[in-house]
Amino acid sequence: MLKMPKNRSTFEKEFNTEAKCRKYLLKERWPNGFVCPRCIAKNVYSKGYLLKSRDKWECAACKYQCSIRAGTSMEGSKYPLRMWFEAMFYMMVEKVGCTAADLQRKLGVKYETAWSWFTKIRKYFPLNRPKLSGTVEFDEISIGGKGKGVRGRGSTWKSNVLMAVERRGRGSGEVRMEVVANANKKAIKKFLLENIEVGTTVCTDAAKEFGDLTELGYSHDKRVMKTKEDLESHLPLIYRASRNVKRVVMSTHMGAIAPWRLLTYLHEFEFRFARKKEARRESLFEDLLRLCITQKPFTLKQIAKEGNDAEVAYSKITQEPKGRKRARQPIVPWQKVIFPLAWPNPRRWMNWEA
Ligand SMILES: [Zn+2]
Repeated sequence: MLKMPKNRSTFEKEFNTEAKCRKYLLKERWPNGFVCPRCIAKNVYSKGYLLKSRDKWECAACKYQCSIRAGTSMEGSKYPLRMWFEAMFYMMVEKVGCTAADLQRKLGVKYETAWSWFTKIRKYFPLNRPKLSGTVEFDEISIGGKGKGVRGRGSTWKSNVLMAVERRGRGSGEVRMEVVANANKKAIKKFLLENIEVGTTVCTDAAKEFGDLTELGYSHDKRVMKTKEDLESHLPLIYRASRNVKRVVMSTHMGAIAPWRLLTYLHEFEFRFARKKEARRESLFEDLLRLCITQKPFTLKQIAKEGNDAEVAYSKITQEPKGRKRARQPIVPWQKVIFPLAWPNPRRWMNWEA
């Protein structure tokens, strides 16, 4: 079984040639031999063979040809598999992650290429995950944004994030986060039902937005928090995890994350957080590779459209604070954009602070 290469030299040993990467991909995708995507859709199992000159597989029954990358995150990419594997390795090997600019320097690709790979890969993190159960701490935190206007909770420059951390023994299990425009009862209900198993004990503070969670089928441990000590005794894991996530946002990304893209970065944090224990750390790279191979691919066009839509939605719900004039780049409707559309410009968000 493949383990997380702990450092660059072990990685180079295992995935140094295109042939080794291809062999690994083949074993993961089609462990029992080629499966024709067309025939399997009709529940027919047929054999296939490799056309060496074209580097494609052909189905013996319907003559459909496809590359080994088709249907994976690497679909349609002209870059070698080795570089994709390397990108995933760099993303996972560091505790605090890796930015597209780092990858650009490491692989010698264009920034746009590095950014699009990471954005595609981040789409896989929330897939195939179990719901939290047992005892879960739940709270609302805010990340980023320093500007004039209201400070702290309720600030127009901050992103409201709902956060739930699972208790496992004295430590924490998995974490789930969601960026919400307004942390009201409706958003909280949606988040809890989507992410936490009914019947779980949910620990919260006494904020009135939380209401009575027993109505949703949870057992609710609600306490009034007055001091920092109260917080550390009742919600210690949230306190710790939120500090860590803010640190990743501020150190690795220097706070230069667009608020409407924040959620994808939080998903990456969640993925890594679930595998933070030494025994599971080794499976980080392998789990990511498996997700990218076995789950449906995301196209760049789809990602760009989603990003654009999210930006438009974000600009509608947030209002510029009074007394501060800041030139906003005009948002071009997706239909009019000829690809590639405006790439994220980190300078626009340099005002961020956690
Ligand atoms: Zn076929």
